[in-house]
Formats: sequence, C-alpha cells, structure tokens
Amino acid sequence: MHPLFLPRLVNGPFEDPTLFIPFQFQRRALVFDLGDVSRLTPRELLKISHGFITHTHMDHFIGFDHLLRCLLGRETDLSLYGPAGFLSNVEGKLAGYSWDLVDRLSCGLRLHLHEVHPDRVLRRSYVGGEGFAAERDAVALPFAGPLHTEPAFEVSAVVLQHSIPCLGLALKERFHVSILTSGLAALGLQPGPWLTRFKKALYEGADPGSTFDPGADAGKAGGRFVLGELREKIARITAGQKIVYITDVGDTPANRAAIVAFARRADALFIEAAFLHSEHDRAAATHHLTARQAGEIAALAGARRFTVFHFSPRYERRDLELEHEARQAYERTSAQLGGLQRV
Ligand SMILES: [Zn+2]
Ligand SMILES: [Zn+2]
Repeated sequence: MHPLFLPRLVNGPFEDPTLFIPFQFQRRALVFDLGDVSRLTPRELLKISHGFITHTHMDHFIGFDHLLRCLLGRETDLSLYGPAGFLSNVEGKLAGYSWDLVDRLSCGLRLHLHEVHPDRVLRRSYVGGEGFAAERDAVALPFAGPLHTEPAFEVSAVVLQHSIPCLGLALKERFHVSILTSGLAALGLQPGPWLTRFKKALYEGADPGSTFDPGADAGKAGGRFVLGELREKIARITAGQKIVYITDVGDTPANRAAIVAFARRADALFIEAAFLHSEHDRAAATHHLTARQAGEIAALAGARRFTVFHFSPRYERRDLELEHEARQAYERTSAQLGGLQRV
C-alpha cells in the first residue's frame, strides 16, 4: 500500500519542531509547526498550501518568515491556523517589514489566517500585493474539531494547555484507495495520471453507476467503464491513515484525557518527550511531557506507531535514553491494558 501522506520531521529531535507532510504523487504538502525550515528546499516549501501551528513560541514559528519569503511573488494562497492570539502574532510579523515595493503585479500571494478558540475560529485574509492589508474584519466561524476538510482528508485540532493554549493536530485520510496492478493488467490498462482522476471521483462520492473514461494515458483509447465496476476490479478500499502531532503540553489530567481521545488509534503519533521522567518536576513547571508520559499516552491512545521528538538540549547526546524510556513506558502500559481487557 502506498500511503497518501509521507510525514517527516524536518529537523533532529534537539532542533526546532516541524512536521512536513507531502502528498504522494502530487505537488502539494501540509506542514504542522513552522520552526527552522531552512532544510526544506524551495521546491518543497512551494508545495505548502496549509500550515497548522501548535502555538507561537519562537521555536515553533520562526520559519514563517522563511516560508513567506519563498512564496512572495507567487500567484498562490497560503492558509495558516494557530491558537488564541494568532492573528495579532502574524500581523505583528507582517508589520515588521516594509512592503512599499510590492504591488498587485509582483505579489499575487494571499494569506488566510485562522485563529482557533475552543468554540470558534476567527478567519481573516490579507493581500500580498497591497502590503498584506487585511481584506476586512475577522469573520467568526463555529469550531467543533475539524479545521480544514477536503474530499480525501480532514485536518482537525484540539485546544490543549501549555503555558498558553496550544493546538493538538490530526490529519485523517477519509479512506485509502490502493490500486491493484493485477486488476489493471487484466483490463489492459496502464497506470498514469488518470488514476488521480479516478481516486478523486471515489473521494468525491461520484455515482458508482456513472461512466468513467480513463482516457488515452491509460493505453486503451476509447475505453469506458462503469465507475463502480472499475472500482471492484482495480481498487481496494481500506481505512485511511491517521497522523497525530502533539507537542508542548503539560501532563495534566485534562490534557491527558483530551490527547488520548484525540489520538485514538493513530497510525503515526508524533509526541514530544522534552525531559526524562527523573526531571518530571521541571517538565511540569515548563508545561512539557516527559518521555515516560509520552509513551504512556501513546499506549493509552492505542497508537500503532509513535515517534518522540522536541528533546530538551540538556540531554544532548542522550537521545537514546529518552527514546528507551518512552518505549518502555509504551510497552508496560500496553501490557497493563491488555491484562485489563482479559479480565
Ligand atoms: Zn512552547
Ligand atoms: Zn516548544
């Protein structure tokens, strides 16, 4: 199975957090947090259509300027989401530069900002060619989890507590479409860009009785199929991928309950492990997780795989200890849960 999303942490676990999520076979990507993004190539940065920022501490948002500079002069839209205070944080950054030499012709970038509160999202758009002037006052939209929805996937958030509000983030593919090469071969069809069109029809819920024409790039000019029959022959539909990203949260009962519910059965959970548990007091004082807490939460959520990151620099060259502590806690907690379920 080829996953639709290929998430990867851009930097090492002691460096700024940024999860880059390119789409398989498409010139498109999402990003969770914008720490130092200088390791991403301009080609990768240009793929980013939507960025979701957990909070605006500097190590999670300093890469905004770098991304903005790369997109300036492009005829494109960038949507960004962040927690309470996000609009004024970004407006402050934009006000920090002089824009007298940009005009409509040289800068077609439009910025759409979303500030996420527990019950509403404030949305405001800015026009690059007008010095990032706001189009109008912010519009308030209701919020109940999903932030951005497309036919194939959804990004949702939960408001957690760090020293300030901090978003937990999840990307969920609605379902996964695997293409069966044996099915293609049996029909004399060749893989090609038409498969993207085929998958799009499935994600958009097209009528299974409608006609689908793979077109000339399938190597069988003039072939037409009933969509539902073609799906039976060349596709296998399975559960979609769920990718969850949690960082900069204290291990309070409210945070723990919210994260465990939000990350339920994640295929890939990226979770911070800032401190060793021997320093849990320091973790609590700075509103961060220890490696043991991260492993416990991953197990309680039933995450299939998890990756710890955002290690405190005080453990430089001791990353294996943090990973080991998290892994042990995950296995111990999973075993206890298994024992409970058998009772
Ligand atoms: Zn922070
Ligand atoms: Zn941080």
